[in-house]
Amino acid sequence: MKKHVVLLPGDGIGKEVINSAKDVLNAIAEEFNHEFSFETHEIGGAAIDQYGTPLPESTVEACGRADAVLLGAVGGPKWDNNPSHLRPERGLLGIRKALDLYANLRPIKGFKNLLHASPLKEEVVKGSDLLIVRELTGGLYFGTPSERRDNGQSVVDTLAYSRKEIERIVDRGFQAAQQRRGHLTSVDKANVLESSKLWREVVEEKKSQYPDVSVDHVLVDAAAMKLITNPTQFDVIVTENLFGDILSDEASVLTGSLGMLPSASLREDGVGLYEPVHGSAPDIAGKGIANPVAMILSTALMLRYSFQMENEGKLIEDAVQSVLDAGFHTADLQIENGSLVGTAEMTKHIVDFI
Ligand code: ATP
Ligand code: MG
Repeated sequence: MKKHVVLLPGDGIGKEVINSAKDVLNAIAEEFNHEFSFETHEIGGAAIDQYGTPLPESTVEACGRADAVLLGAVGGPKWDNNPSHLRPERGLLGIRKALDLYANLRPIKGFKNLLHASPLKEEVVKGSDLLIVRELTGGLYFGTPSERRDNGQSVVDTLAYSRKEIERIVDRGFQAAQQRRGHLTSVDKANVLESSKLWREVVEEKKSQYPDVSVDHVLVDAAAMKLITNPTQFDVIVTENLFGDILSDEASVLTGSLGMLPSASLREDGVGLYEPVHGSAPDIAGKGIANPVAMILSTALMLRYSFQMENEGKLIEDAVQSVLDAGFHTADLQIENGSLVGTAEMTKHIVDFI
C-alpha cells in the first residue's frame, strides 16, 4: 500500500523521537512491501522562529493533503512569555481544528517487565487496560466570544456542543468498546451542566444501536476518584474535551511513565494526527536520551486507525514488548538487571525486531 505521511517534529525531544517513528515506518514498509513517503513541516516554537506563527499555512496545506500526520511535541521555555497568539500550543489547537480532528484516543496499558514506577499501589493498577475517547474540537477550549476579558474585571468561557458533535464522538466510543471488551463508561456532569444532560441523552439514545456494549454513566468527579482507586473497572471512557484532558493526564500515572503513552486524533474519514502524550521535555532535549516508545506506539496507532494495517501495528507493539523483555530501556524507565540505552539505540533494537 502507498501512503503519504506528514512529519511535524515540533520542538524539544519532538525533533528527536520523530526520527524513531520514521525509522520504524521504513522497517515496516520493507517487511510488508508498503510504500511510505514523507514530508516534514514546522509547527509550534520552531514555526514561530522561522515563520512568525505557530501554524504556518504551508503546514496546514501539507497536512490537508496527507493520509496521516505524525507530530513530535511543541513548546519550550523559549516561548513561554510570548503573547497568547504566539504560543507554540496554539499551533497544536489550530491543526486539530483545521483538520477537524474531533476524536482523541488514548490507550493506557502497562507493559510487562517494567519495574513498577507508578506512585499508586501495584495491586490497584495491575491489569489496568483502558482507552479514553475524548472530544477534541468543541466545548470550553473553543468558547466564544473570542474577546473573553472585560477590562480584567470579569471573564467568560462558554461551553457549547451541538447534538451532532456529541453523536459522532459517542459513536466512536461505542465502536471502540465493540473492538475491545464491550464496556463503555460515559463521563459527564449531568447533575449540573446542560451540555452534560444532552450528552447523557445521546448516549442513552445510541445504546440500542450497540446491543453488544454495556454502558454506565459516571459523574466526572467520581470518575476521577475511581480512575486511581479502581482502574480495572474501566474499558472505554468517552467524555467531552475538558473532562477528557484532565482524566487522561490523571490516567497516565497508572502506567507510571509518560514516555510510553501514545495518542491518536481522528477525523470522520480516518485521516488522523498521531503524537506522544508527553510534551517537548525541555529538561532532557538535545541529549539523545528521550524515550522514543510513546512516539513509536503512536505510529502503531496510525497504521491501525488510518491505514487499517492491524498486523503492522501489532508487530510494532510486539517489538516494543520484546525489546523491554530483553532488558533494554531509556533513563525514564526501570528494569531489573536491564541495559540503559539512549533514543537511537532503543529505536534500533525495535527496528531490528521488526
Ligand atoms: P506539556 O506542557 O507540553 O504537556 P509538560 O511540562 O507537561 O509538557 P513533558 O514535556 O511531557 O511535560 O515532560 C514532563 C517530564 O517527563 C519531564 O521531566 C520530562 O523530561 C519527562 N519526559 C517526558 N517525555 C519523556 C520521554 N519521551 N522520555 C523521557 N522522559 C520524558
Ligand atoms: Mg502536560
